[in-house]
Amino acid sequence: MGEFELIQRYFASLEWRDMDSSSQVLVPSGDDCAVLTPANNHHLAISVDTLIAGVHFPVATAPEDIGHKALAVNLSDLAAMGAEPVWFTLALTLPESNDAWLEAFSRGLFQIAKEHRCLLIGGDTTRGPLSITIQIAGQLPAQQAGPLCRSAARLDDDIYVSGNIGEGAAGLKIVLGDVVAEQAKPLLDRLNRPTPRVELGQALIGHANAAIDLSDGLLADLGHICEQSSVGADLRIDQLPTSTLMRESFNKEDVADMMLRGGDDYELCFTAPVQERTFLEELSVRLDVPLTRVGKVTSADGIRCLDEGGETAAIDDARGYDHFR
Ligand code: ADP
Ligand code: MG
Repeated sequence: MGEFELIQRYFASLEWRDMDSSSQVLVPSGDDCAVLTPANNHHLAISVDTLIAGVHFPVATAPEDIGHKALAVNLSDLAAMGAEPVWFTLALTLPESNDAWLEAFSRGLFQIAKEHRCLLIGGDTTRGPLSITIQIAGQLPAQQAGPLCRSAARLDDDIYVSGNIGEGAAGLKIVLGDVVAEQAKPLLDRLNRPTPRVELGQALIGHANAAIDLSDGLLADLGHICEQSSVGADLRIDQLPTSTLMRESFNKEDVADMMLRGGDDYELCFTAPVQERTFLEELSVRLDVPLTRVGKVTSADGIRCLDEGGETAAIDDARGYDHFR
């Protein structure tokens, strides 16, 4: 199978493009460029993420999961900005043209793409070690409050985390053979099939100040908000949300470590003024997404971890994953 046949067979499936007459695509994939019409009175939000086999996902990951995750991590970046997904491009480098692999990969990819009504509008296909780069574009209504920037946290804001955290890290530790868990499947699913909080991100516009998605670990990612907003944070580690399964599977120290330093959760961490508490409680019910208050923005330098009763917790190294360290 040649390059063009491969693209045609697996990545030209735009039959669902018509589901939405406002798809804003003047010229789709297949020409030298896609030609797009941005919606009136909207800003564009653009992001790109590369997934390399053996670095961003274990080599043995199922191809359907790789397709899902490659788009999910990009959707998560849009979510953290409060943007609505619209289009994406796919640069795919493959060691070989493997039908079974491509079929499963594109199934995983298009399933989550359809769910979020995000259209594949072009790409590039090359041969080499497996790597997937997706560039995503979303839109933000220009007349609304601004996007959820990392630099927008304000003194005395509440700090929130969506969903449960730590399970992605637990999944990775299981894959790497560092830990064993009786019930591994739900933890592996969290690692391989993250749920980007796209709807939540859009609903937070005008209510939250700063936001970031949790890809490198809570301490590292909240650290970015603190740094870029020139604020500090008091984090109540006894109030961090994790699942019963996590608490049943690992000891307290390991759970804390995975919640604080583990990556791959793709939940949102955001800050919001105290007067938004009622709105956020109602939003949590409406979207069926847990939103947990885990701390306060302070004027201190950096993040202080507090335990039950507000005691300073014995946690020193506030760092997450860094490719170059
Ligand atoms: P060019 O030579 O101009 O770079 P290509 O041969 O790389 O064009 O691609 C031909 C067409 O196929 C382009 O419209 C491109 O966007 C599309 N395409 C290539 N690879 C993919 C892919 N993996 N997914 C979707 N579209 C793709
Ligand atoms: Mg090309």
